[in-house]
Amino acid sequence: MQVPLLDLKSQFATIKDAVMPAIDEVCQSQLVCLGPAVQQFETKIAAYCQCRHAVGVSSGSDALIVALMAIDLQPGDEVITTPFTFFATAAAIVRLGGKPVFVDVDPESYNIDPNLIEERITDKTRAIVPVHLFGQMAPMVEIDAIAQKHGLRVIEDAAQAIGSLQEGSRCGSRCELGCFSFYPTKNLGAFGDGGLVTTNDDALAEKLRILRDHGQNPRYHYQMVGGNFRLDGIQGAVLSVKLDYLDNWSDTRRRHASLYDERLASSCVKTPNIAENNLSAYHQYTIRAPRRDDLQRFLGDHQIETAIFYPKPLHLQSCFSYLDYGPGAFPVTETLCEEVLSLPICPELSEEQIERTAERVLAFYQH
Ligand SMILES: *Cc1c(COP(=O)(O)O)cnc(C)c1O
Repeated sequence: MQVPLLDLKSQFATIKDAVMPAIDEVCQSQLVCLGPAVQQFETKIAAYCQCRHAVGVSSGSDALIVALMAIDLQPGDEVITTPFTFFATAAAIVRLGGKPVFVDVDPESYNIDPNLIEERITDKTRAIVPVHLFGQMAPMVEIDAIAQKHGLRVIEDAAQAIGSLQEGSRCGSRCELGCFSFYPTKNLGAFGDGGLVTTNDDALAEKLRILRDHGQNPRYHYQMVGGNFRLDGIQGAVLSVKLDYLDNWSDTRRRHASLYDERLASSCVKTPNIAENNLSAYHQYTIRAPRRDDLQRFLGDHQIETAIFYPKPLHLQSCFSYLDYGPGAFPVTETLCEEVLSLPICPELSEEQIERTAERVLAFYQH
């Protein structure tokens, strides 16, 4: 039995009849950059995200860049974030001339540890960018309180967490700016690149819309220097259709997760720890495993595909060596990079495939 990490071809087969006419409509209209399909999607996903505004952009990476532009991040400004995330989180800060200031993660949630944030705040700190890693939201109440106390902006990197909840609120809905990715492997994936910024602030929403189209308002009059961060009409149409399936897919991910939790409870691997006030979107089901590399090889030999997110922390990447963090700077993150392994959890998998994966994990530790 093969167990792939992702099965986008099966997913396409289930939505083909709904998605192809929507694509066809955009093709017929030839309104392919932004346009009505994107507008309709924005209205629909704003409601889904419990937000006043949703602004479609070209990718999750660009969502972070546009959000940082919207708060007027200046060269030299410091932004606090986690070293245990996808590269784009920190790269966006650097692209605008800002300085990423890393804070280690919590060993249970793998998200930024709010208890370590305040000691890193200086008079140059402008913002905090928490990342909702693997689909579980970072502790936003604590983070918002710190931000309020020190007058900092908060931008959520929700690229992995669409549909997750904390105290009943969606990610990206509770703070100023939420950034989402529709990269095909994400829980809600486009047929190419796409992203979104959410906000409840009318003025910020207006600014985001201007920035994503070079800063023009009205046409050919530039109030600020933005960029080409537009979302394609075809992606808007695809995403509108797929959004109708998202809650079902998330439910299936959570069912797969509880099956893993149950089967692996007695083993020596550490299963994900979801805080009581959180409902995870389970973008990944990430365990901490002794002899991780051997386990991954063993599962691979049994046709079970796994992945390591992330094998190397951001503070040890050579492009960030000028930030002067050395090995040992963030011990929790560094240990996680050696121990984490993400097991297949996509909604297209059957219960049998999850059972098989769990059974093979147990078998590995029995010899
Ligand atoms: C995927 C991802 C991004 C970037 O999104 P793209 O659409 O690939 O540009 C940013 N942050 C995190 C945490 C991600 O997982």
